[in-house]
Amino acid sequence: MPRSNTTEELEIPWVYEGYELVVGLEVHTELKTRSKLFCSCANEFGSTPNTNVCPVCLGLPGTLPVLNKTVVELAIKIGLVLNCEVRKSTFHRKNYFYPDLPKGYQISQYDLPINSDGYLDLPSGHRVGIVRAHIEEDTGKITHMGSSGRMDKSAYSLIDYNRAGVPLTEIVSAPDIHSPDQAREYVAELRGVLISLGVSDGRMEEGSLRVDANVSVRPIGSSELRTRCEIKNLNSLRSLVRAIDYEGKRHVKLYQRDGAPIQETRHWDETRQRTASLRSKEEANDYRYFLEPDLKALAPTEAFIRRIESEIVDTPKQRRAFLIGSLSSEEMSDQVEKAIDLELYPYVKHAIEAGISPRLAVARTANELAATVSDAPYLSLERFVEVLQLEEDKEVSSSQAKVLLNAVAKRDEPVSSIVSALDLKKADDNETRSVVESVVAQSPSEWARFVEGQDQLMGFFVGKVMKLTGGKADGSVVKDTLLQLRQIDS
Ligand SMILES: [Zn+2]
Repeated sequence: MPRSNTTEELEIPWVYEGYELVVGLEVHTELKTRSKLFCSCANEFGSTPNTNVCPVCLGLPGTLPVLNKTVVELAIKIGLVLNCEVRKSTFHRKNYFYPDLPKGYQISQYDLPINSDGYLDLPSGHRVGIVRAHIEEDTGKITHMGSSGRMDKSAYSLIDYNRAGVPLTEIVSAPDIHSPDQAREYVAELRGVLISLGVSDGRMEEGSLRVDANVSVRPIGSSELRTRCEIKNLNSLRSLVRAIDYEGKRHVKLYQRDGAPIQETRHWDETRQRTASLRSKEEANDYRYFLEPDLKALAPTEAFIRRIESEIVDTPKQRRAFLIGSLSSEEMSDQVEKAIDLELYPYVKHAIEAGISPRLAVARTANELAATVSDAPYLSLERFVEVLQLEEDKEVSSSQAKVLLNAVAKRDEPVSSIVSALDLKKADDNETRSVVESVVAQSPSEWARFVEGQDQLMGFFVGKVMKLTGGKADGSVVKDTLLQLRQIDS
């Protein structure tokens, strides 16, 4: 996910009036399966309400859950990539009454989750512990009808049970996050991991990735964990950053007035840019957890786990490592971050493996390819490499290569035909030199200043040459010629 450069770039570490932030995140991700967790209803976003339902996910009496094997595979994949211990687990019933929960309980994992004790390393180098990543079912969706979308002001509410029983994995981090920006980095990296594993589409706005933040503060230097508040259902990275910042400052102000926050569940009010109390925090014993009698313990064999492990390829960390390793340095890090995008990465990887210089491959991927890829019906991996090869062999200039790439993406013709049709042949170097000489002769006063050492005029001359040659001149030949002429004149 591209990092946004909006106004809320907050400092790491976050420090406010002598306090630091302590944040743990719970990320719920819907798993991309064909069917639901315990029945064969379609797991599909956007269907007509209440069409993907059956007696099992509606909780009718006498029905029995049947565990979806694919869910187990996807959950284990998540656990492995988050360096968790994958182990024998059990299912529990979490009992509570709410209209979006037709059975009156949610089947979840409680004291024995399938994955526990892992970690995720962030691109900044910070390590965030993963307490657990367990399987559970989603609830139905309630829509409160009325202007505000809030229950208290609505005339009536609608319930869609298509989502009831959709498989989720809840990933619970340790309280290792100490700034809003770090929270964003964690969610962005985790989202990238989940998308690259093919387990989730990562769409926060459609609710397939939902984040709850547990926020507290403590005096700098202390290691205590103070009372935390849970902010529910943050559905964008922007809200996440703002809500954590607001909540942290709210706690500090309470302590400064000799008060203290109470443990509760809050929600983020996007309009008023503040958190507000939702309800007092439930304790585990409020839910009367008990072992789900209709499901056996889940005990994946070592062979099963190893088979799933062998299917994990090209995680963001692996992609980043491949590109940085190919460049053999940490330079171009912004472009590397762009090029590891799931859609772009196959191109840059293929180009480097085909022998294109990594610097060129990364640059064209992060810049030109990133700009065209969403509308590039004819840009195969092979055609991308073909264009880069022409540039590397100096058959076309850099500016021509950019034009060519764009045309190749949109035209169903061989690359060589497009080169001829657009007359994209690099200018002959001798021709380029004579154009440079004429440009110099036409601009005597600029030339005099350039000879005196005003290097910024280089761009002025290069631009003129490019204009006259229609972008066909080789930029390095133009610059070399200008420097040679300057040496003669000075
Ligand atoms: Zn069903």
